[in-house]
Amino acid sequence: MTNLLDLDPAGLAAFFVEHGEKPFRAKQVAHWIHQRFVDDVGAMTDLARPLREWLAAEAAIRGPTVIKDSTATDGTRKWLLDAGNGNAVESVYIPEDDRGTLCISSQAGCALDCAFCATGKQGFNRNLTTGEIIGQLWHANRRLLADGVSAMGGPEREPSPPGVQRRDDHGEHGGPTNAPWVAHGRPPITNVVMMGMGEPLANFDNVVPALRLMLDDNAYGLSRRRVTLSTSGLVPLMDRLRDECPVALAVSLHAPDDALRDRLVPINRTYPLAELMVACVRYLERAPRDFVTFEYVMLDGVNDAPGHARGLVDLVRNVPCKFNLIPFNPFPGTEFRRSPRERISAFQAILSDAGLVTTIRRTRGEGIDAACGQLAGQVQDRTKRRLATRIVSAPAT
Ligand code: SAH
Ligand code: SF4
Repeated sequence: MTNLLDLDPAGLAAFFVEHGEKPFRAKQVAHWIHQRFVDDVGAMTDLARPLREWLAAEAAIRGPTVIKDSTATDGTRKWLLDAGNGNAVESVYIPEDDRGTLCISSQAGCALDCAFCATGKQGFNRNLTTGEIIGQLWHANRRLLADGVSAMGGPEREPSPPGVQRRDDHGEHGGPTNAPWVAHGRPPITNVVMMGMGEPLANFDNVVPALRLMLDDNAYGLSRRRVTLSTSGLVPLMDRLRDECPVALAVSLHAPDDALRDRLVPINRTYPLAELMVACVRYLERAPRDFVTFEYVMLDGVNDAPGHARGLVDLVRNVPCKFNLIPFNPFPGTEFRRSPRERISAFQAILSDAGLVTTIRRTRGEGIDAACGQLAGQVQDRTKRRLATRIVSAPAT
């Protein structure tokens, strides 16, 4: 039986056409699933009964199974989701004044084995399906709405110009006129970051259809600037993303030179910094934003000296970029420590003085282990399977 969450806009249209239906049925059904967040085909009241019956026999809407749901005092909320075979993945909701951000996982575990990452330390288990990836966004919106969390602020939608009908003004073909969030102008999740468990580009074929749903006006309708994919630097797949579905890009840098980056981010041995920098510039030719965000985890005594900051200034000389310094989030068994605050500030000052916009990431979700790099699902002591080489040499599979 087809899980309708697995189908991107083109896949949903093909599904109906193959069964002799008009392609606009796909839009109708997408509105029900991704804008009204129903999980029951029977609820799609604007489909004729025979069509509904056929659909109920052929397909279902199967969202994630929640193992644990925790909320921190700052409102950050983490869902631990079953990924089968004793594995789990996590998604994290981060409310802010002007937005609601969901941090989404793309793989159960990760093969790339960065030295400072809890997900990497658990090894690779499997790629998430498109349905499991978009299911995190579907579930978070649905759950938050059910709990009465209204849309976050953000720029209010401007009124439609006279005579112009917007999709959520009218809801032809089952549009979301009665969707619970219409009064607020948007559902609770306004931004998505692919920064949870896993390397999204290593699961390209399932991640891109999920991105397409995030961007599609008949589904989540997020602008490309509000969807950010974070990668450790799989260069050929950065090019593919640029060509097939460009969204805002974050690149995990973590070191100014190859010797150190080889140690911290092992994929650097395959795609060293010079190649990565050029790939960033190529990406910007088609990116929705005119800069790349470089993420840089601050590791005490490892990559946080003034000389490292000066090295970064040289390294990114030709790349339009911003820096986001992430204070290291420790996890049990790690050899690393977080850099002291003053050292992070001094590091920031060197970058800023060189004209690079540099922010320090605020740690959110304390007490529920919801911060970057702490997401580890349920897997304990799993034997690591280092599949990095295979994944990067066979990106299309
Ligand atoms: N695989 C992708 C996206 C997931 S990791 C990537 O590596 O970019 C999201 C971010 O968290 C990355 O920048 C990653 O380097 C960082 N990170 C990993 N472990 C961390 C930790 N323990 N503390 C702080 N940041 C960490
Ligand atoms: Fe994988 Fe990203 Fe963790 Fe590296 S930092 S092991 S790429 S999830």
